Order: sequence, then C-alpha cells, then structure tokens
Amino acid sequence: MEMNYTLITGASSGIGHSLALKFAERGKNLIIVARTEKKLLKLKEEVHVINPKLDVRVIAIDLSLVSNAYKLFNKVEKYNIETLINNAGFGDFSKISNQNLSKVEQMISLNVTSLVILSTLYVNKYQNIKGTQLINVSSTGGYSIVNQAVTYCSTKFFVSAFTEGLSQELLIEEKPLQVKVLAPNATSTEFARVAKGVEVFEYSGNYHTAEEMATFVLKLYESSKCVGRVNLDTFEFELLNPIFPFRCQGSTEGNS
Ligand code: NAP
Repeated sequence: MEMNYTLITGASSGIGHSLALKFAERGKNLIIVARTEKKLLKLKEEVHVINPKLDVRVIAIDLSLVSNAYKLFNKVEKYNIETLINNAGFGDFSKISNQNLSKVEQMISLNVTSLVILSTLYVNKYQNIKGTQLINVSSTGGYSIVNQAVTYCSTKFFVSAFTEGLSQELLIEEKPLQVKVLAPNATSTEFARVAKGVEVFEYSGNYHTAEEMATFVLKLYESSKCVGRVNLDTFEFELLNPIFPFRCQGSTEGNS
C-alpha cells in the first residue's frame, strides 16, 4: 500500500512543532520542513518516541528564497502528500516608515510568495484526490490590522483571501481537495521574539500555547468549515464559513 505523508513547513518550533506531534499521535507519516536541521532531527526523535513505526523525512530549506519553494516540491514529488500545512512564517513589529526592508522582503517571500507557489503546485497535483487537505496558516492579523504590524498583517490578509478564495474555487468545481485557513491569535512560540527582534520575550495576558493551537488545528482538519479562527472577544476557537465570500459565484467573466 502506498504511504501517505503530512508535510508541515515551519515544523522546527512553535505551532508547527506541536502540529507534527499531534499528527504523529494520529499515526501520520511526516515530512518536516524548516531551516534548522538540528531541531528537525530532534523533533524526529520525539515523533519516534510517540510511534517508532512512523516514517519521518527531514528537509532543511530556507523558504524565504522563492526558488526553494519549487525545489521543496520537487524533492517531495515522489511522496504521496495527504495533507500540506503551510505554517512557516514570521512577523515584523515596526512602523512602515522604520521597517527593515531586507526583513520585509524575506517576510513577504516566505509568508506570501512561497505559500502561493506551494499551494498552487499542491492543488495542481492533488485537487482530484479524495482525503487530501491544504491548511494555510494566517492570523487574526489576517482579518484585522494591528498597529505597528501593518506589513505583517497585510501578508496575512493575503493568506486569508488567497486561501478562502482557493477553497471556494474548488468547492464550485466540486473538487475533493479541502482547503482551509487557520487564524491564531497570540500563541506562545518564538514568533514575538523574532517579530520584535529581541533575545527573549515573555508572553503575558491572553495567549494560547502551541499545543492548544495544534489541538485547534485538528478540529479544523476534521471539520468541513473553511476557516478556523480565534475569536478576539471571547478568545474561543471558532470554525466558520468563508469570511470573504465570492462576490460573484461561478464564472466571473463579464462581472468585473
Ligand atoms: P515560530 O515558533 O517562530 O515558528 C516559525 C517556524 O517557521 C519555525 O519552524 C521556523 O524554523 C520556520 N521558518 C522561519 N523562517 C523560515 C524560512 N525562511 N524558511 C523555512 N522555515 C522558516 O512561530 P509560530 O508562532 O509557531 O509561527 C507559525 C505560524 O503561525 C506563522 O506563519 C505565524 O505567522 C503564525 N502566527 C503566529 C502567531 C503567534 O502569536 N505565535 C499568531 C498568529 C499567526 P527555522 O527558524 O528553523 O527556519
């Protein structure tokens, strides 16, 4: 029997790391991707403590280099990817007038361009295969703008709109591939430390743990809803229909 894999980008820490462990608990073979190979190899050991029979492939690659998104897909061409989770991403907390354009370029390349390339190649290959799923990680900042994080939020607005739109395209065409968007709010990971460019960051106030977020992702994975989002008023995780429904259903020709 052909083996199926769950491919998770950004698996070396935070939400992606917890997701890998959750999918391992469900008996899923894994392809884990990030830049830091040492952390991925440690995660592979952790997965094998949960289930030594699982096949875990480690790919260390920098997805802020757009050409590497194509390289990654070529590398995994021989595997059957049941689920792709585009989770790798980072933020930048600064005013637009002060932002570091080199960091911003990398952020847009990773959060937006590589995600679009991987999603497109995945849809192209798997859209007619039952049981397949694509989950793209956005943010509550992909539905509301946060002061001093405008460019980061804009990348996540892109992820939300692109993923919701793709999900609706496939629904209209009655394709079996399910496409979903995850919108976490503050989650205690390396995210804030990287976004602020500081050595240490202590989370306080309302936040979820990466483990809690991974549990939410499993709820989204099991549901037929398109959006899994943290409600900013209640802090509960909600499963929703598209927040950006198509303005025109079916063919859009002549409807601009
Ligand atoms: P994290 O702990 O910093 O994890 C980010 C992951 O992405 C790491 O595995 C990192 O690994 C990988 N990554 C970063 N740059 C990469 C690159 N150039 N190429 C390949 N992989 C790269 O943060 P997290 O919170 O788990 O973030 C996961 C996702 O959740 C992101 O898309 C983030 O925007 C989103 N999110 C987070 C929060 C939050 O509060 N934590 C809220 C909303 C949305 P390497 O450094 O080893 O490459």
